[in-house]
Amino acid sequence: MGGETKHRSAERPARCPACGSERIAEIAWGNPAGIPDLGKRLREGSLVLGGICARGEVPAWRCNACGASIYREESGPGPTGC
Ligand SMILES: [Zn+2]
Repeated sequence: MGGETKHRSAERPARCPACGSERIAEIAWGNPAGIPDLGKRLREGSLVLGGICARGEVPAWRCNACGASIYREESGPGPTGC
């Protein structure tokens, strides 16, 4: 809705830029079938599934504590396409 600051980081942030939590999950885009230890990582919260189709700019990480989305610093070719 605009007005919301996009948090950006060059690499996986050690702490959430919004709330300071260390519980940062990587967001996996695309087909999750090839991800090793998928079930375990989902359970422990180090990984969340973003979806099969990544359209436009999508966040690379998400805070498990407050739900903040964190985007990659440089908006190069992301994990787009289906
Ligand atoms: Zn947070």
